[in-house]
Amino acid sequence: MTTELIKIRGLMQNSDDFMRAGNLLKNGEVVAIPTETVYGLAANAFDEDAVKKIFIAKGRPQDNPLIVHISEFDDLAEITSEIPESALILAEKFWPGPLTMILKKNDKIPMAVTAGLSTVAVRFPSHIYARAIIEAAGVPLAAPSANRSGKPSPTTAQHVMRDLSGLIPMILDGGECDVGLESTVIDLTGDVPTLLRPGGITLRELREALGNVAVNPKILEEVSDNEQVASPGMKYKHYAPSAPVVIVDGEALAFRDYVCRNAADKSIAVLCFAEEQHLFDGFDFRVIPYGNRTNPAELAHGLFAALRSLDDISADIIYAREPEVGDGMELAVVNRLSRAAGFTRISV
Ligand code: AMP
Ligand code: MG
Repeated sequence: MTTELIKIRGLMQNSDDFMRAGNLLKNGEVVAIPTETVYGLAANAFDEDAVKKIFIAKGRPQDNPLIVHISEFDDLAEITSEIPESALILAEKFWPGPLTMILKKNDKIPMAVTAGLSTVAVRFPSHIYARAIIEAAGVPLAAPSANRSGKPSPTTAQHVMRDLSGLIPMILDGGECDVGLESTVIDLTGDVPTLLRPGGITLRELREALGNVAVNPKILEEVSDNEQVASPGMKYKHYAPSAPVVIVDGEALAFRDYVCRNAADKSIAVLCFAEEQHLFDGFDFRVIPYGNRTNPAELAHGLFAALRSLDDISADIIYAREPEVGDGMELAVVNRLSRAAGFTRISV
C-alpha cells in the first residue's frame, strides 16, 4: 500500500482532502489524523472490521482498548448507556480538550473497540482539523496514538510516516501537536472518579472540578506479570527507544559526573533539562534537551520527539532527567518517562 501524506493548510484550502479522508473512513479504512494531544490512527468506531485494521497497522495487543473521538458533546449519548453528573461537570470545564472519560458503553460500540470491556473511553478533541475529519466521516472515530505499538507516540506527521508508511492509506499533516502527550484518562464508572493516566488536564484541575479524585497507583509503578489492572494499557511497555533508558535523580553536577564516568566504556546518550545542556559542552556523546525543568508543559511537549531522536542514535544506554512529581503536568511527564525507562531509576 502506498501512504499518501497530505499537508493541511486550512479548513477551506483543503476541504477536498477532508472529504476524501471522511470517505475513506466511511468506507472502512484507517486514516492518521492530527489532534492536540498526539497523532491518532482513526477508524469508524461503529465498524468492527475497520477497527481491527487499527490493531493490525499498529501491531497493538488486542486486549488494549481504543479511545472513541466525537465532534460534539451530544454524540456522547450515541456511545454510552449512562452519563453521570461527574461527566457533565468535566465536559463543561474541559471539553473540547485533552481529557478522556471512561463511561458505560452501549450496544452500538463493538467489543473490538473496548477490547471486551463493558466501558468505553470517550474524548472530544479541541483540534479543529480533528473535529473536521470526524464531521466529514459522519461517525465517531476510534483512534489510538498513530505509532507502532511500543514506540513513542507521534507528535508530527513525519513520526507517523516513519512508523506506518506502507501500512495505511493516508496521513493528514496538521503540523506539530500542541500538548505532545496522550490525553488524561479518568474512570467515572466507580464510586470515586479515578485517574488512570495523567495528561494535559492535570490532577489538580480534576480535583478542583470534582473534589475527590483517586489516583491509580500503577501510574507510577510497574505492573507485575498477571496482575489485574484498571486500564489494559498499563501492562504494556511503552514509549521506549531501542536502547535502555535509565532515569538519574540528583543534583545537576552529580548527574553530569555520573554520566561522564559511564561514557568512558559505553556508548551513551543523554536526555536532559534545557538549562543543564551546557554542562555537557565539549563531550562527544549526544545530549538532547526536552525542555526547562520548571516548565512541565514544555517538557511534555518535547518528550516524545526527544525520545524519537534518541532512538536514531545507536547508543548502548540513555541517561534521562525527570522533574519532581506533583499534581500538575509533571505527573504526566514522569509517568511516560518512567514507562520508557521500564521504571529503572538510580540516585547519584
Ligand atoms: P491510546 O489511545 O494509544 O492513547 O491508548 C488508550 C488508553 O486508554 C490505553 O491506555 C487504554 O488502556 C485506555 N483505555 C481505553 N479504553 C479503556 C477502558 N474502557 N477502560 C480503561 N482504560 C481504557
Ligand atoms: Mg498509544
